[in-house]
Amino acid sequence: MVGHDGVGIGDFVLLEVIDKDHFMQNLEKRFSGGCIYTYIGEVCVSVNPYRTVNIYDQEQVNKYKGREIFENPPHIFAIADSAHKVMKQQGRDTCIVISGESGSGKTEASKIIMKYIAAVTNAGGQQEIERVKNVLLQSNAILETFGNAKTNRNDNSSRFGKYMDINFDFKGDPVGGNISNYLLEKSRVIYQQPGERNFHSFYQLLFGASDSDLSKLRLKNKVDNYFYVNQGNAASVRSISDRSDYKATQSAFRTLAFSDHEIDTIWRIVAAILHLGNVKFRPDNESVKLDDPGVLDTISGLLSVTNQELRRALCERVIAAKGEVMAKTHNEAQANYGRDAFAKAVYDRLFSWIVQKVNRAINLKDEESSRYRQKTTVIGVLDIYGFEIFDVNSFEQFCINYCNEKLQQLFIELVLKQEQEEYQREGIQWQNIDYFNNQIICDLVEQSHKGIIAILDEACLNVGKVTDEMLVEAMDQKLASHNHYSSRQLKPMEKDLKHKEDFRISHYAGKVTYNINGFLDKNRDALFQDFKRLLYSSNNPTVKEMWPEGAMDIFQTTKRPLTAGTLFKNSMIALVKNLASKEPYYVRCIKPNENKSPVQFDKEQVLHQVNYLGLIENVRVRRAGFAYRQRYDLFLRRYKMISQYTWPNFRSGNDKDGVKVLMDEQGYSDDVKYGKTKIFIRSPRTLFSLEQKRSRM
Ligand code: ATP
Ligand code: MG
Repeated sequence: MVGHDGVGIGDFVLLEVIDKDHFMQNLEKRFSGGCIYTYIGEVCVSVNPYRTVNIYDQEQVNKYKGREIFENPPHIFAIADSAHKVMKQQGRDTCIVISGESGSGKTEASKIIMKYIAAVTNAGGQQEIERVKNVLLQSNAILETFGNAKTNRNDNSSRFGKYMDINFDFKGDPVGGNISNYLLEKSRVIYQQPGERNFHSFYQLLFGASDSDLSKLRLKNKVDNYFYVNQGNAASVRSISDRSDYKATQSAFRTLAFSDHEIDTIWRIVAAILHLGNVKFRPDNESVKLDDPGVLDTISGLLSVTNQELRRALCERVIAAKGEVMAKTHNEAQANYGRDAFAKAVYDRLFSWIVQKVNRAINLKDEESSRYRQKTTVIGVLDIYGFEIFDVNSFEQFCINYCNEKLQQLFIELVLKQEQEEYQREGIQWQNIDYFNNQIICDLVEQSHKGIIAILDEACLNVGKVTDEMLVEAMDQKLASHNHYSSRQLKPMEKDLKHKEDFRISHYAGKVTYNINGFLDKNRDALFQDFKRLLYSSNNPTVKEMWPEGAMDIFQTTKRPLTAGTLFKNSMIALVKNLASKEPYYVRCIKPNENKSPVQFDKEQVLHQVNYLGLIENVRVRRAGFAYRQRYDLFLRRYKMISQYTWPNFRSGNDKDGVKVLMDEQGYSDDVKYGKTKIFIRSPRTLFSLEQKRSRM
């Protein structure tokens, strides 16, 4: 049976009744039976097993390689194979979009896909292709070190969005690639909630580097010494060995052709941030003094800037007014703010710079292999944050949830469009299906002039004059009549709108109340120019390279940089446009419980995810009157043994005629429609009965 492995039903489209209960029963049955993958047509639903499952070895690779999706039990390999096959045989760009909440298994899925692609390519054993494959696989180690952290949901949580293009030559072998990173959660550099950690890199350095390396960085391997890494009180994690991960990171750096100087600079920057977290200011008249000036020597040494200029950047800022330049001293709060903004910006920039260098390594080509610069075809893999609802939701959740709206919009367009196109192609009448189109919510966020981001940006122009609360008022004014927007002012009686700082968006996945505090600041994302100039003045060419805008003098820099919200919006629009140009495959990841248990299936929690991933709606759309469709040749190959007219071969016509004869003889004609190249079957029962007959033969 279609992708059947004996436990429940392998494709939700074949459920007898499509509703919540039947969907959940089947999902639970399969999870308990050890089957973590189930299809909805060509969408793969994956439930995190929270244990090692032995389904990824070479034997399994061989089983899925070059096969059709329905020939084997559901597996993410089949999706990867399909994406690769279409890319190779039809020369079309494809992409695999992986979504799901934190801890649901997105990053693991993306790695499994990459390993599968590596395993089925380069039959000729070419050195350059081996190198590219190796670099692609090793890049994960580096990105996870600098972009992942232990959170209360996931010990190895990706705190950034990642999209990776893998380029293939005409033979279908990987010859290059490109990684784009989205919105790193940089606030983690300076603050962690109880039970959480900063990015892995900090702990790897402290626990993995040798004593002599640490002493060069003036560090001790004690987390308690450093404020930026000890707030969550969770430095050691059972599932993580920072010491061996540090070794793996170092070795990955070498595989990716990072120079010794670059590696050294990266760790110096990480160390400088650790020291920066210990910088304290004391009020001193109108200005501030440093509590422990010694730490300045350390930081300036690590960043190769002068002690004096570092002190200046921390304690005052230079402003240009009426053609004159003058220094303005910070008060304590401003100095603290500046220090933290500095730490976040340095880390964020370091991360983006590392991604660029990883890209450099992927595409490093020698002369001999320059022929690979021919036109290539692409498989894109997207591993990006899922929908988030916390107790308190801030600017980060706003961005992340907007991202999910965009992806949902794409999903609706592509899945519906694909269905519609297939029906048209096959000459079968298209029936309209009811579904919620979330375009209206995307507009609420991104429309020019009256979208939330535009209102935010406008408020950011009036630094100091507009408060967060006034921002809610401004949104109320413009958005009061919008069905998906609300606030306390507009709906004072609603329980989830307790504070006047609260506003609410009714996302496609559910209502989320956001707290406006910090929105303006995070959107403006200001870093005093002084810090940029400071880093550009570094004697370390690698540090300097990271901060090219520091070259601008003060009169050039009055133009406002784009806000964080607008930059994110632009990157999402570009991402969606890119994905829309490719043939999409979807992996929808589900987390079975909050306890990392391999046996517990928390119905309520799973249902919540099923709902917001829109899976049941997905089954309905996909089914759209027909539970199953298949190419005539493949259909005949599978079922020809059932009928005396088609076994062993049908000789009185083409495949379509053969299928018709078979279905007529078996009495299924009322339940099917014949398209140009495919047969469409209305009810799952027909398919089950065909399968039964087949297995009795
Ligand atoms: P986040 O959004 O926080 O980055 P995520 O969706 O990327 O979360 P992963 O890091 O991929 O989640 O998975 C969390 C953990 O679940 C993994 O560290 C691993 O222990 C387990 N896990 C996920 N998928 C599998 C799998 N296929 N087999 C075995 N274990 C898995
Ligand atoms: Mg992840």
